[in-house]
Amino acid sequence: MREHPRVAIVGAGPSGLYAAGALLKGSGDVRIDILDRLPTPYGLLRYGVAPDHTSLQGIQRVLAEPFASDRVRFFGLVELGHDITADELRRGYDAVVYAAGAAEDRRLDVRGEDLLGSRSAREFVAWYCGHPDAEPQSLADVEAAVTFGVGNVAVDVARILLAAPERLATTDMPEAVLAELAAHRVADVWVVGRRGPEHATFTTTELRELLTLDGVQPVLHDPIPEDPEGADRRVRQNLGALRAAAERVVDAPHARLHLAFWRRPVELVGVTGVRAVVLERTGLDSSGRVVGTGEREVVPAQLVLRAIGYRGKPLPGVPFDPEAGVVPNEAGRVVDAAGARPGEYVVGWIKRGPLGVIGTNKSDAAATVTGLLADLEAGLLPAPMGPDAAEVLTGRGRAASTFADWERIDAAEQAAGERFGRPRVKVATWHALTDLVRHGRPGGPLEHEGDPA
Ligand code: NAP
Repeated sequence: MREHPRVAIVGAGPSGLYAAGALLKGSGDVRIDILDRLPTPYGLLRYGVAPDHTSLQGIQRVLAEPFASDRVRFFGLVELGHDITADELRRGYDAVVYAAGAAEDRRLDVRGEDLLGSRSAREFVAWYCGHPDAEPQSLADVEAAVTFGVGNVAVDVARILLAAPERLATTDMPEAVLAELAAHRVADVWVVGRRGPEHATFTTTELRELLTLDGVQPVLHDPIPEDPEGADRRVRQNLGALRAAAERVVDAPHARLHLAFWRRPVELVGVTGVRAVVLERTGLDSSGRVVGTGEREVVPAQLVLRAIGYRGKPLPGVPFDPEAGVVPNEAGRVVDAAGARPGEYVVGWIKRGPLGVIGTNKSDAAATVTGLLADLEAGLLPAPMGPDAAEVLTGRGRAASTFADWERIDAAEQAAGERFGRPRVKVATWHALTDLVRHGRPGGPLEHEGDPA
């Protein structure tokens, strides 16, 4: 193997950081540069995991481990294709690992989808997780919300909408988000699946948590079937949890959770904003495809969240499969129409599609890294011929942020948390983040400034 091989990782989320950890473990010599558009590492752990799922936030300690090594550097505020190109990375490194996640979402393709009040769950999640790109979300006129999709993202957004303010008050949500979620009057949340409960992809722990929220009356709009023959444990447990929920009677509920299966959206109705959704009852045809029965019903709703799956976004200068929404690869080695592209690798959702929990990325990243190190060992990778990221960025007059800058953001968030009696309060705007990076302190008002309520 060459001395001091250099690897660039594009994306500092769980898959990229697990890849960095596997590289450090697999080679005593490798130098790793991790690039991210944001000055904050941890990707979907920070901006996708629901803030009330605090136990998962412990994973951050594991993901941070590679940054303790002097063989790892962090380059925040660096966007591929804008600040540095894929070509420059290919020339500057023995290997490049794309770990860009799935930054877009699927669409329903129904009339009215772009009305105000209809948005992707991804945008809603970004808002309550304090992502600096997120648009503020007003819930002022929302009495009923509908989520499409019956996976864990739908469960997350439904739970956040239905949760009692006390449950959210100990999270790291930005103050403005917390205030909006504490003040709203959403009384009905619908979770709508186009197939049956036996086909739903949510996991039982998450489902049970939703079905047993304090002060929330579950309303099941379909009979829950007996366990299908050969059903796996998760499906049997899900059906059991749904049957139990059908029996649950909540005293003086503050809201209702409607679970409606075998329905698909055909139209969102409204003039400028959504006022209702039109659903069509569904069944399966002989080949198992979802088909409409023609029977329709109308559900009033002022907020519609589509939680029907994320989608990978093309990375400039990197092959992309638009059908699958991933970087085409063979066991993590990037390929294009002409064949292999030695030195380019992929991990995480941009490799395998938007499925699996944070931990799934560990084995996935390890598998790609095993291939990378084997290729390096076998001398299959072209030697670097150009400058590394630090030199390219300096030459271009671009100032990347460092891990120390992130530590300052981290400390500011924890200090804000102390003031509000919470573990942390996220810094949620670009100007506040970049002020902390550039000047070591917030210049403008922070999202969380002001006195605790
Ligand atoms: P998902 O599990 O794939 O669920 C997507 C849902 O959307 C499915 O119910 C799917 O139904 C439905 N759907 C797709 N296209 C549709 C359409 N055109 N019309 C109506 N419904 C449609 O994905 P996800 O919920 O986005 O979650 C992504 C991954 O992150 C999953 O692996 C999930 O477990 C994980 N995650 C985990 C947690 C947690 O552990 N707490 C939290 C959030 C996310 P069909 O099955 O009929 O296609």
